[in-house]
Amino acid sequence: MFGRAPKKSDSTRYYEILGVSKNASHEDLKKAYRKAAIKNHPDKGGDPEKFKELAQAYEVLSDPEKRDIYDQYGEDALKEGMGGGGGGHNPFDIFESFFGGSTFGGGGSSRGRRQRRGEDVIHPLKVTLEDLYNGTSKKLSLSRNVICQKCKGKGSKSGASMKCSGCQGSGMKVTIRQLGPGMIQQMQHPCNECKGTGEMINDKDRCPQCKGEKVVQEKKVLEVIVEKGMQNGQKISFPGVADEAPDTVTGDIVFVLQQKDHPNYKRKGDDIFYEHTLSLTEALCGFQFVLTHLDNRQLLIKSNPGEVVKPDQFKAINDEGMPMYQRPFMRGKLYIHFTVDFPDSLASDQCKALKAVLPPKPASQMTDMELDECEETTLHDVNMEEEMRRKQAQAQEAYEEDDDDVHGGAQRVQCAQQ
Ligand SMILES: [Zn+2]
Ligand SMILES: [Zn+2]
Repeated sequence: MFGRAPKKSDSTRYYEILGVSKNASHEDLKKAYRKAAIKNHPDKGGDPEKFKELAQAYEVLSDPEKRDIYDQYGEDALKEGMGGGGGGHNPFDIFESFFGGSTFGGGGSSRGRRQRRGEDVIHPLKVTLEDLYNGTSKKLSLSRNVICQKCKGKGSKSGASMKCSGCQGSGMKVTIRQLGPGMIQQMQHPCNECKGTGEMINDKDRCPQCKGEKVVQEKKVLEVIVEKGMQNGQKISFPGVADEAPDTVTGDIVFVLQQKDHPNYKRKGDDIFYEHTLSLTEALCGFQFVLTHLDNRQLLIKSNPGEVVKPDQFKAINDEGMPMYQRPFMRGKLYIHFTVDFPDSLASDQCKALKAVLPPKPASQMTDMELDECEETTLHDVNMEEEMRRKQAQAQEAYEEDDDDVHGGAQRVQCAQQ
């Protein structure tokens, strides 16, 4: 809309915006506006600028008097007030007067005049796994803007405000730059004198409480209830208690739960995971240990008589997981993952003692003579993860070299032969 050079009396733009010809009938205009406004409505994801332009164009062209002025003298004539102001109206009002009330429902106010919606304020709230297991409440003190009670949000003692002289009350300023002969550029930006509000308050009339700011700071204590079973990332909202501003629907304060890592337990959905390491003797001959749960109960965990636990084995205890959100009497499982700590080496007498009790080794199928014929080998210790990482890095390097080479195909063949 701005940033282009307007002709001296451009009186076609509004027709172009609505996509109609200059001799369009009133019915044509209505039809065109209806179609385009529904398509571009911000509530349906349309571009607000485009929506505003449509309303502006329709407002002018649907009024025979304004249309006449526009056709003869262009947009500027209307701006200068010849037709009683052009495009000063709220595009949502125009839309709603056209369709009769809120068309899409939800979102804005359903009572005629549409208000701006203030921003939601989002705060992270750190909680422990214990908090999420047991439920808790946290009192938080926040400071927020509230409408000044002394001036009822007017900013002045008398309740009056003057039109900003810098922008004639529009809140916007237009700068015109000469780009070259016959070329001018128009730029629109919020007025710096009134911060885009379009009004000014006389120094003497300024409200002493808010200094004309219309809002004052207030401390507010919110009690956030963390319910049993809530999840990391879950939101707890306090509707309509964010910063207040005049003519604005106050936004929400929203807390987003952030669970701190727990030293012993990991949560997955409604289940809890616990890592436990057994000595080899415990794994073979039985174990017993005490686990302190998230509510400080002491659980006795023990193997069944004669049972052997193998490395990487899982066991589960039913109904000792997390309580389910809003159904706290239902619980997930507590999983225990076992690691077995093997000894690094054994002395020969230890081996002898073990051989005496453990199942015998598988007997060799070959004679000593045959074994002597076999080749000797050496087993090395490897860190498999490390090994894989190195191989991957090598492959990556080879690929990059390949990439650099113009005759990539030939290079690949060479590599394969090595
Ligand atoms: Zn201003
Ligand atoms: Zn005040």
